[in-house]
Amino acid sequence: MITVHLRFYEELNDFLPRKLRKVRFEKKLKFSTTVKDVIESCGIPHTEVKLILVNGKSTDFNYHINDKDDISAYPIFESMDISGLTKIESSLPEELKFIAGRNLGKLVRNLRLLGFDVVHDQYAKNSEILRKMKEDNRILLARNRNILMCNEVQYGSYIYSNEPFKQTVEVVQRFKLVDVINPITRCSLCNSLLEPVQKKEILHRLEPLTRKYYDEFVRCIKCDKIYWHGSHHIKLRQFIKRVEEEVKKNR
Ligand SMILES: [Zn+2]
Repeated sequence: MITVHLRFYEELNDFLPRKLRKVRFEKKLKFSTTVKDVIESCGIPHTEVKLILVNGKSTDFNYHINDKDDISAYPIFESMDISGLTKIESSLPEELKFIAGRNLGKLVRNLRLLGFDVVHDQYAKNSEILRKMKEDNRILLARNRNILMCNEVQYGSYIYSNEPFKQTVEVVQRFKLVDVINPITRCSLCNSLLEPVQKKEILHRLEPLTRKYYDEFVRCIKCDKIYWHGSHHIKLRQFIKRVEEEVKKNR
């Protein structure tokens, strides 16, 4: 039997039962395993851990634990200086593309409005989500921590908030997207790219006031939805401003 002590910091405590939050606690294990397995056995997805100290020394996920080890784990957002310590590998795919788990429909729509590539199927099974994630080298966004604890997940992010605006800020902040926001380039319904379309081609599909006041239109190359720089565009600009302000505040 191996006995270790664990202490989790900051928002990693959100994943723990109340009595284990912000305290050092004991865990008994039948055999030695990696520190990654020990941390995940406490309910904490590996994607959320940025730094692990074992007996005061930084390690990576592959460290095999020994009896009486003292383990501390810190999250992604913890704003401490960890230069010189072994950070958990946080490299990202060259192209930032996402796949969202279930119950994130509004976050998905927001991210697409900002121009980001996000695949989402509300009815997909976990196995299908993981397959698509691997196939396209996508970053998994999830409210469900169990899917993030799957071994296949190389790039992932737990979504802490249940409010779509805050969720959007979380993603923009974590993946440093604020400077690459590119609105009205991607369809919020189906994630395909938008292309300019001549007004005369779609005239018959426009409401009288839209026809009268707007001249520039884009349409989705896949589902044919039409977008124009109308009042919803002003709202979108305001939304982007709020996201940018919130990201700045949290820096
Ligand atoms: Zn579309």
